[in-house]
Amino acid sequence: MGCRERAAKRDLLRIVAVEGVCVPDHRGTLPGRGAYVHPASVCLDLAVRRRAFPRALKAPGPLDTADVRRAVEAAAQAAP
Ligand SMILES: [Zn+2]
Repeated sequence: MGCRERAAKRDLLRIVAVEGVCVPDHRGTLPGRGAYVHPASVCLDLAVRRRAFPRALKAPGPLDTADVRRAVEAAAQAAP
């Protein structure tokens, strides 16, 4: 969604919107629409800049992406 590169869903982080906040859905179990980004801050930055989250998640307004950013940064540190 951010960089528009194709990837398998298992390589992407699912994001759902809960009350105006983007929440990372690591297990893919949260209900509602999901948006997918690579767990990389460049990809997240692009998605945020393009306002891709409100669009993909059909949110009426801007969404808080701080939780997603933390998850992406944690994933980047865990990666080899
Ligand atoms: Zn990407």
